[in-house]
Amino acid sequence: MNEPSAPRVRFAPSPTGRLHIGGARTALFNWAFARRHGGVFLLRIEDTDHERSKPEYERAILEGLRWLGLDWDEGPDVGGPHAPYRQAERLDLHMAAAARLAAQGSAYRCFCSAERLEQLREQQSARKAKPGYDGLCRSIPKDVAQRRVDAREPNVLRFAVPQGETRFLDLIRGDVTFQNTEVDDWVMVRTDGGPTYNFVVVCDDTAMGITHVLRGEEHLTNTPKQVLLYRALGCEPPRFGHFPLMLGTDGKKLSKRTGDTALEDYRDRGFPVEAVLNFLCLQGWALDGKTEVFGVDELIANFDPAQVSKAGSIFDVDKFMWMAGEYIRMDTLERVAERCAPHVVASGQLTADEIHTRQSWYRAAVATEKERIRTYAELPERIAYLFHPDDGLVFDAKAEANARKQLGDGALVHAYLDWLRPKVAAGVDAAALRDGTKAWLAERGAKFPALFQPLRCALTGEPGGPDLFDVMALLGSERTLTRLGHGIARLQTPVAT
Ligand code: GLU
Repeated sequence: MNEPSAPRVRFAPSPTGRLHIGGARTALFNWAFARRHGGVFLLRIEDTDHERSKPEYERAILEGLRWLGLDWDEGPDVGGPHAPYRQAERLDLHMAAAARLAAQGSAYRCFCSAERLEQLREQQSARKAKPGYDGLCRSIPKDVAQRRVDAREPNVLRFAVPQGETRFLDLIRGDVTFQNTEVDDWVMVRTDGGPTYNFVVVCDDTAMGITHVLRGEEHLTNTPKQVLLYRALGCEPPRFGHFPLMLGTDGKKLSKRTGDTALEDYRDRGFPVEAVLNFLCLQGWALDGKTEVFGVDELIANFDPAQVSKAGSIFDVDKFMWMAGEYIRMDTLERVAERCAPHVVASGQLTADEIHTRQSWYRAAVATEKERIRTYAELPERIAYLFHPDDGLVFDAKAEANARKQLGDGALVHAYLDWLRPKVAAGVDAAALRDGTKAWLAERGAKFPALFQPLRCALTGEPGGPDLFDVMALLGSERTLTRLGHGIARLQTPVAT
């Protein structure tokens, strides 16, 4: 695709809620597009909905974008040549544009009451007609309208949709044509003087020199209104591209039913940020059709909105979890340990100080699970057995049943413990014990499970988990011996009926 050398794109969230995962993808794709072409990525806060906009949402959105590693060249916090970057602070500019549009006849005052509009809607729905304003106030002469405005009669400013059809070339969807009759005379400025989204977005995108509007498909129905407004303002519309909806595995719009929808939920659930970025890339875009695991560098080097698919992308949380696990497996132990730490602290297993002072022990514990966990938050549950009392471990029912079965009369395990105890008491050398145990079993022609299932149950209470000699090393001599003593004795006690 031939692109201007320096596109100017924007991410324009409304601070009326947490950053949606779909919004995060929109931001990521815009950012990558700007970075690829040496353009400008700007952040504009669309806070014209006074009631629902909250500073804490704005803060959370910025924090979420920063967590993703995105940076913006212009924005409310960094300033820029087109400040202010909060829409509510640009009201004067919006009102000047409204006055100009009204003066040239592209917009008109409407005095219809809420009751009349309600009646109109009812009649339209009875006729199964498309709901929309019927243009009654269009015919009021300008001077009459002005007198009524001066007399403080409640009114709204409506856009006067011209006749004909409107076309635009969507970078993703191709040629889009719509009949102007499909668009009613929409409200630009409400009775309370507040401008509406479709109006201000065009004012600000024009003023900020936006060359490409890349956003979610949910805005496709707004685009006709906006294209007509650009024309009325005498401006060439930017190029548009609408990213496909993100769908749940049920094929419906992504919702809480099929997975978390806010970016911060994934951060809090301990997804590696690299996995989040990678997974967002795959929502409607593909690197080469086969490589699934790749980083943002590849996105920047290759992202082309024209390659984004039109079809809704499936947001499959199971696949997301798999990808998160892949990133944890690929990462260094040091970093995984560091990123797991807040979750371990939150679980109450260790304090931040303890993690610091017992760093090598903590890392060894993380190492036993690094290949298995899919998110950082999964670690505490996996290593919980290490923090339980040595003389009162909770046995998983299945683990205990299997252990009892393998134990039989206990002769093999006791003979092994006689061999093991002095070695463990002298200090746990996992590698030496592993080799020694293999040889010990081979000499007796005994099978692994006969030994390991009772031992695992006694040491961890779990049916599965890390290598038993690594577990012994983590527990240390004393705790290993205590657990083995208590555990094996318990497994030989008849089950109370
Ligand atoms: N404020 C709009 C939203 O959050 C932005 C739409 C646009 O990009 O034009 O959905």
